[in-house]
Amino acid sequence: MTQKGTHTWDLILHYHLCPHCGYIFESRADYQYRLGSYQKDLECPRCHTQFMVTRNRKHHFGPLLGGD
Ligand SMILES: [Zn+2]
Repeated sequence: MTQKGTHTWDLILHYHLCPHCGYIFESRADYQYRLGSYQKDLECPRCHTQFMVTRNRKHHFGPLLGGD
């Protein structure tokens, strides 16, 4: 897909490593905010192991850093 869009749609494409068989596969699903962190449920397309990945917010940009 090389078509340029002017809207704010972000192409979501993540790569994940299956903890069971080591297979690396693509995921176009976005993280969901749950329990204070961003999580995503995945299923390996090769061995069908279901697992969850968590994205921690290590970098805080915005008003939290700007307070005096
Ligand atoms: Zn797997």
